[in-house]
Amino acid sequence: MELLENVKPHVYKFGDKKADGNREMKNLLGGKGANLAEMSSIGIPVPPGFTITTEVCTAYNTLGKEAVLDLIKNEVEASIANIENLMGTEFGNKENPLLISVRSGARVSMPGMMDTVLNLGINDEVVLGLAKKTNNEQFAWDSYRRFIQMYGGVVLGMKSQSKEDIDPFEEIIEHLKEKRGIKLDTEFTVQDLKDLVYDFKDIVKKTTGHIFPTNPWDQLWGAIIAVFDSWNGDRAIYYRSMNGYPADWGTAVNVQAMVYGNMGDNSGTGVCFTRDAGTGENIFNGEYLINAQGEDVVAGVRTPQQITKIGSQRWAELAQIDEAERKELYPSLEELMPSIFKELNKYQDILEKHYRDMQDMEFTIQDGKLWILQTRNGKRTGAAMVKIAMDLLKEGLINEKEALLQIEPNKLDELLHPVFNPQALKRAHVIAQGLPASPGAATGKIVFFADEADKYKSSILVRIETSPEDLEGMNIAKGILTARGGMTSHAAVVARGMGKCCVSGAGALKIDYKKRTLTVNGHEYHEGDWISLNGSTGNIIEGKVATMEPELSGEFAEVMKLADKYGKIKVRTNADTPKDAKVARNFGAQGIGLARTEHMFFEVDRIKAMREMILAETVKGRKHALEELLPMQRADFEGLFESMGGSAVTIRLLDPPLHEFVPHQLATQKELAEDMHITLQAVKNKVAELEEFNPMLGHRGCRLGNTYPEITEMQTRAIIEAALNLKERGIICKPEIMVPLVGTVKEFEAQEQIIRSTASTIFEERNDTIEYLVGTMIEIPRATLIADLIAEKADFFSFGTNDLTQMTFGYSRDDAGKFLPIYIEKGILKVDPFEVLDQEGVGQLIKIGTERGRSTKPNLKVGICGEHGGEPSSIEFCYNTGLDYVSCSPYRVPIARLVSAQAAIKTTL
Ligand code: PEP
Ligand code: MG
Repeated sequence: MELLENVKPHVYKFGDKKADGNREMKNLLGGKGANLAEMSSIGIPVPPGFTITTEVCTAYNTLGKEAVLDLIKNEVEASIANIENLMGTEFGNKENPLLISVRSGARVSMPGMMDTVLNLGINDEVVLGLAKKTNNEQFAWDSYRRFIQMYGGVVLGMKSQSKEDIDPFEEIIEHLKEKRGIKLDTEFTVQDLKDLVYDFKDIVKKTTGHIFPTNPWDQLWGAIIAVFDSWNGDRAIYYRSMNGYPADWGTAVNVQAMVYGNMGDNSGTGVCFTRDAGTGENIFNGEYLINAQGEDVVAGVRTPQQITKIGSQRWAELAQIDEAERKELYPSLEELMPSIFKELNKYQDILEKHYRDMQDMEFTIQDGKLWILQTRNGKRTGAAMVKIAMDLLKEGLINEKEALLQIEPNKLDELLHPVFNPQALKRAHVIAQGLPASPGAATGKIVFFADEADKYKSSILVRIETSPEDLEGMNIAKGILTARGGMTSHAAVVARGMGKCCVSGAGALKIDYKKRTLTVNGHEYHEGDWISLNGSTGNIIEGKVATMEPELSGEFAEVMKLADKYGKIKVRTNADTPKDAKVARNFGAQGIGLARTEHMFFEVDRIKAMREMILAETVKGRKHALEELLPMQRADFEGLFESMGGSAVTIRLLDPPLHEFVPHQLATQKELAEDMHITLQAVKNKVAELEEFNPMLGHRGCRLGNTYPEITEMQTRAIIEAALNLKERGIICKPEIMVPLVGTVKEFEAQEQIIRSTASTIFEERNDTIEYLVGTMIEIPRATLIADLIAEKADFFSFGTNDLTQMTFGYSRDDAGKFLPIYIEKGILKVDPFEVLDQEGVGQLIKIGTERGRSTKPNLKVGICGEHGGEPSSIEFCYNTGLDYVSCSPYRVPIARLVSAQAAIKTTL
């Protein structure tokens, strides 16, 4: 507490082209607060206000409400006085009131995850003054009822309790609409709004046992605390864990003068983007509504209009609205308010140039005056991200390094997954069209509730509209379809952020949640029916549509080329089949870093021979089975070498969890007994004998090769013969034979000896030779500690961080799923260490292993082939630790190439 008191100020003011803060202060002021300060100081008309720092939120979590309010009271009061000065209004004044908004704002944008209260400062007296001052009773009472509704929900906790329940305030609204025979909120009369206010206050009293707070200051303190609380709400916690954001960041609170878009036909509000967030096209676009408040645009209740004329015409074409109707009912802002449009257009240009990135802005027109409420780097699809970065580079706004750094590695993933097969699309039956809200292809079974998205392996979430509560289900579903809402609706914005295919605002859909049906043009679809979405065209297609692999072309290829110019650490792939190897090679893999040979035995014709080998009682029996496997393995390796066209291929000797291979079902045990001419009981006995208490720490890796040397012998033979066969065909490859799970020098030496003597025998037999390396996985903590001794023998190291993580933490890879999610939820671990390399602990072992290994062999080749080899922060760590390459799954190769460049660039900044 003392400490925090010393770190003044806790509150930063902005407005009137001045600001205490700036955009560098995101950690302290949150993204929104830092940007408001920045915008204000570059002359953008933002409504004046102030930001309470994230440190106060963190302090609140430990100190509690009273102490924290004490801490900020004087500064907040002075800052409110500043707003009053700038706006010429007074907080709580009955004649000339100032109303304010209170919003959350973490250091990164978390759309819809935390709470906001608008119109704060209103009460029974202020509403009368507001009505008089604006000469607009409708507006004043509408603001009042909106305030009670939001405050009730956010601060007083009056929300719907279950998915079937509707919000208690919405229930009153719906009831009144029904009684009055009206459909839209805008159709309410002043008397209706007064009735709503009365009923709202009544339900608040009945539900909470207290009268609704009338003192504006009480309202303000309550709202500030509610924003702090929302940082630890379920939605925010889920969003944080999904994105790996720590709980101790906290949220800032932004308090700002309200400006109103619902003051009549000379007012309005909207959202706009400096470029297209779906495709990346360089066109200013967005949506607005006349006589509305911000949430009306995203809520999807009214159909928003387009900002630009061209955008409006494109939209009308998709919505099948003719030009006359468009002009009359849905004119663009450019047509309706040309001078405001011009001003907005100017600001969007200034802001994009200032931030040197695509901006997502919110604005309000209050009685003919334009206010910019916020700007931020816009969320975008993977495709748009790549195009925008390359375009900004070509336009000279950013340089090559900045363009590469602007690309979020994990978002490239969206471009690396299947799209609809054009042939299959030709036969597709399009049942309706909505807005192309987030591109991509999705096919799945219909579900109507977000918490049921996991009911099918592939599901499409079909909703009238979505809300932040649906987030988890949206993430699970393959695609999202909504009947209402525009391109900036919740569904659209969130889906684009997730890179998930989404079609929104498909007005032809009739959705019945109770019956769980979707009706389109008289045809009824049910939960579980297949449906497909094309998020790039807005088409909704009946049934399942085949998909195909994407191509690395256009701007994506340009990005990759640029990445290779800067990237230093090499990128290999983990591939066990020629098919995977080819995919990886097309994605730019510079070799195979791990071919897991046990994966080659899962196919039906091989598993039998494999089982015979495992179950064999004698060396002779085992050798017999191995002889059957030899030609298959050799062919496998030839395929792999060939598909990599001579680049490095690391083949790991058998590392099977034996229990996965032996049959556990009676029928298969019987079959095996017949094949092996032994009794069923013998098979059963052998299976029981092989059972291990701890298979992950059991008879696997080189322990197997050392107990059954004939396996290593067979595999070496297959590898060397395959390479010699290819040499005969003019393809030179240099196999890298890798010994798994080494913990002592002797373990490695014994295997190395078999490999080298087998190779020599073959060279003699064939009277020919090839070059090859013998190296080891480093995946047991002990191996990292004696790496200097191992390196005396081994030609290369490859860190197996899956096992290294398992053994360093002591978490079983097979069982960690039972407790890791709870650990993450409780903050005991920030992220899953099997996904993101634990640099603090496991990372130390990698450093030690590399340093000690190179202390005996300075040029020792070192790589990584655990799952972490495709994870951005882990790749960066590997680069900084001096590894030569990372090896990852084929679809992660482009991501790793990009991160390789980013890591190298970051060290030069
Ligand atoms: C590892 O342990 O990191 C590794 C690559 O091997 P596997 O996952 O096959 O055990
Ligand atoms: Mg391993």
